[in-house]
Amino acid sequence: MTIATEDLQRLFALIARDIAARRDHLCELDGAIGDGDHGLAMDAGCEAAAKAVAALDRAQTAPTAVFNAAAKAFLNTVGASSGPLYATAFMRAGAAVKDKSELSDDDFLRAFAALAQGIQERGKAEPGEKTMVDAWKPAADAALAAWASGTPLSQSLDMAEQAARQGCEATKDMTAAKGRSSRLGERVIGHIDPGAASAAIVIASIAKFVEQ
Ligand code: ADP
Ligand code: MG
Ligand code: MG
Repeated sequence: MTIATEDLQRLFALIARDIAARRDHLCELDGAIGDGDHGLAMDAGCEAAAKAVAALDRAQTAPTAVFNAAAKAFLNTVGASSGPLYATAFMRAGAAVKDKSELSDDDFLRAFAALAQGIQERGKAEPGEKTMVDAWKPAADAALAAWASGTPLSQSLDMAEQAARQGCEATKDMTAAKGRSSRLGERVIGHIDPGAASAAIVIASIAKFVEQ
């Protein structure tokens, strides 16, 4: 499979649609342990990214520029903490595929892993700190491990999706060490981290996109 600019335009549209469908749920999760805006932030950011990407001339735009346009739109739209985290992530994904006119499966997987790594580096959160890293890191690790042992891209991303879902569920038992909910101590136990929940949605969208 090769992934071209028009495919990435489809990917960002798919992510925006899936996040929009879960907007209220994500706000409810954030309402329990944060300020309640996570669904609105992700919905606005993903919609802005999808729009910016859709406006690009596919014949003139390389994949790296698609990710950069998404990053810029996300950053300009989202004032919440998720803004700079995803903006950095998309920039890193773009940098990982610099100079490519189309993406091979290997390129796409490297972009996916770079995205996850970007979130971790920007937010300086470690796994276990009840953030979106608890979904992104196991997802990237699972995809990279599967890919390295010869698993096709689509199944490697299915593994990522499963790992993200499990990582997201596991945030229930954690106290938060980063972000707004870190001020609430033990009170956050029993609640899923909203950023991990939206990450699991985005990762599922990516896995679904590759299957199509
Ligand atoms: P805000 O807290 O500014 O309203 P959002 O509601 O958009 O931002 O996002 C909250 C989510 O951001 C949290 O659930 C958590 O997953 C994530 N988050 C916060 N700080 C960090 C960090 N330093 N690293 C990674 N993720 C973080
Ligand atoms: Mg919030
Ligand atoms: Mg906020």
